[in-house]
Amino acid sequence: MSRRSVSRFWTAAYLICPVCRYISVIQRRKCKLKKSGHIKTMWCPVCQEVRQHIEAKEWEIAERYAGNDR
Ligand SMILES: [Zn+2]
Repeated sequence: MSRRSVSRFWTAAYLICPVCRYISVIQRRKCKLKKSGHIKTMWCPVCQEVRQHIEAKEWEIAERYAGNDR
């Protein structure tokens, strides 16, 4: 009987596309967690292009970066 230890070492990180504002969620090891505002270059599924995504540790921060908190 092994309990799933999903959140023990892993946490979610949110990556915001600066162009279309789409927020992607990725899993990151907690020990490798980057600070909010870190830039990660990755594929945007909406733009269908590689973009310089802004990383946020929490959904709220991600929405702020995306400009959706009106
Ligand atoms: Zn995009």
